[in-house]
Amino acid sequence: MNTTSPDHPAFALDAYKIIAKGEYAYAVEGDRPQCPQCQGSGYARVNIDGVITMGRCRCMMLPDRIALFNKAGIPSRYANTTFVSFAQDKNGQLKDLDPAAIRALGHCSQFVDQYQTAVENKGMVLYGEVGRGKTHLMIAMLRELVFRHGVAVRFVEFARLLSMLKEGYSSGRSDAGILGELATVPVLAVDELGKGRLTDWELTIIDEVISRRYNAMGCTLATSNYTPGEPTGAAPPNLATSTQLNQTLGDRVGDRVYSRLVQLVDFVQVEGKDHRAIVSSSV
Ligand SMILES: [Zn+2]
Repeated sequence: MNTTSPDHPAFALDAYKIIAKGEYAYAVEGDRPQCPQCQGSGYARVNIDGVITMGRCRCMMLPDRIALFNKAGIPSRYANTTFVSFAQDKNGQLKDLDPAAIRALGHCSQFVDQYQTAVENKGMVLYGEVGRGKTHLMIAMLRELVFRHGVAVRFVEFARLLSMLKEGYSSGRSDAGILGELATVPVLAVDELGKGRLTDWELTIIDEVISRRYNAMGCTLATSNYTPGEPTGAAPPNLATSTQLNQTLGDRVGDRVYSRLVQLVDFVQVEGKDHRAIVSSSV
């Protein structure tokens, strides 16, 4: 029988803080009293589906989650990025958010609430214009997935992803190494999907990552400045990154990747006020 109160501070899951250190954000553990169940050894009698056995003590959940966060590759600039900081300023005042931004926040928060480990979870592509908070929302989801659900996540910028894959291929560790990790991590979050001049070779390796995630039933999150849509042929992906060309996400990533994405994710628009439109209509 577990005689230790579930509320004992040794089991606190919020005794951590996030700091920016160099390129990435890191979680560090705060003070907790010694665990009354394992006396700090990390091993204790645990009840798994009604069977009492020796196992990893519940007080290790926090350090385990901290370790997951520290492997996530969250950039330093997003160290303090949360759902709360999307809606409130530093003084705790509610920001003047557009209803569309509030809806997007709701979708993302619901996604985290409904996420289930050990089953396939549909992913999400947050799309919309630059500066509307897409990356902010995606990082906030990652943070909650780690600290609320204990899920392994990986954040990577699209351009960085391409260069990592290139390096992997040229050093001959493509399959077992970086590509394997990106293909199998439970939640992969890709920032700025479709950005850059994409060569055929790059499109091929993106295709491979997405196909392997599809087969591994991994959850894929992404942000994109491009509107979801089948390829229109407006401009080839290797021409330029410009939303002025009216390229769809399908134009950017190609037909095969786009059709996989449609099966893997929901598309959620992140929009804010168009201040120019408001000014011109009030004149
Ligand atoms: Zn313990």
